[in-house]
Amino acid sequence: MKTFDLNDKISAPVSKVAAYVPGEQPGTPDWVKLNTNEFPYPPSPRVREALMCELSDGCAKLRLYPDPVSRRLREAIAHHFCVPAEYVLAGNGSDDILNLAVRAFSDGDKKIVTIDPSYSLYPVLAKIEGSQLINIPFENGLEIPYEKIFSSGANIFFFTNPNAPTGAGFGREAVEKIAENFDGIVLVDEAYAPFSNFSAAELVRKYPNLIVVGTTSKGWALAGMRIGWAIADPALIDVLDRVRDSYNLDRLAQAAGVAAMGDDNYYREFRGKVIAEREETQKFFDSIGWDYVKSSSNFILFTPKDKSGKSSPAAAASLFDFLREKKILLRYFPKEKSVSSSIRLTVGTPEQMKAFKDAALEWSKK
Ligand code: PMP
Repeated sequence: MKTFDLNDKISAPVSKVAAYVPGEQPGTPDWVKLNTNEFPYPPSPRVREALMCELSDGCAKLRLYPDPVSRRLREAIAHHFCVPAEYVLAGNGSDDILNLAVRAFSDGDKKIVTIDPSYSLYPVLAKIEGSQLINIPFENGLEIPYEKIFSSGANIFFFTNPNAPTGAGFGREAVEKIAENFDGIVLVDEAYAPFSNFSAAELVRKYPNLIVVGTTSKGWALAGMRIGWAIADPALIDVLDRVRDSYNLDRLAQAAGVAAMGDDNYYREFRGKVIAEREETQKFFDSIGWDYVKSSSNFILFTPKDKSGKSSPAAAASLFDFLREKKILLRYFPKEKSVSSSIRLTVGTPEQMKAFKDAALEWSKK
């Protein structure tokens, strides 16, 4: 065989990419797992019924390809968000949708703009596509840098709302201002919107440049099924549809998604519990004098203070490690300068939060 140099064969953009590193999945159930913003309660019992039905007759249905367009799931999502079904595309998790948007609307010339900090997958997707991602920091803490976004010259704006990793939420006025003034496509990544009081989905009929992306991973307890969506004008949906895998959602995901989206009462009740626990946890931080970003999400970005009352990346790292020793797992981003003195805490059950609070207090006195 001729000498084979793999490095020489990799496409130019991919040769420069370091893979996205998702939050740790420890694999044993003995952890208090508060690191990847999953829902702390099981999904609706209707999900189990739907899955059992899909697997009946010795799994005979699995011989057959799934519906390539996920029609019933699109309809269920459309119904939930009060839009016509042609405004919806289903994806294999919302990461799939983000990837489709990057592939469809960016390239070497067409740039992407986002606010720093935002979801750390965006730069990886941009690099794979050979696109440039322009990162504009929040102004004065957590204000949207509107003018810099509008004059960025980018083709698509990725707006994480509520923001990750800060948890801060922005309302209708902000999205409308952006959709009206940004000369390009506005993608609102609403992974955490089920825990806020606003979704921009209601605006897609008004703005033909708006794509609202969502997921069942956070607000519907189905991170393990990989179901996401884009809601947008049918002309935009048509472009994204061209790029996706032909069978991008398997049978089980489609069935589970339809069942989950149809059980509003269940999710309203359990999301309410998460939101109540979030408010309790913020009160806890108030009571011990630790700063945090007021959250519209199912997580809180907080800044611990050590025994002498100081915050620093070293204090954050120390608390993160201390909790980890006790098998309480949070998410820490030491390389992201703007948040390196803070830690991200997923809101869990009252029992999980008690374990966290007890350990945090113990650390603060050490
Ligand atoms: N957007 C944001 C802001 C996220 O934090 C995540 C999850 N890490 C996603 C999208 C992707 O979620 P999923 O692929 O599970 O739908």
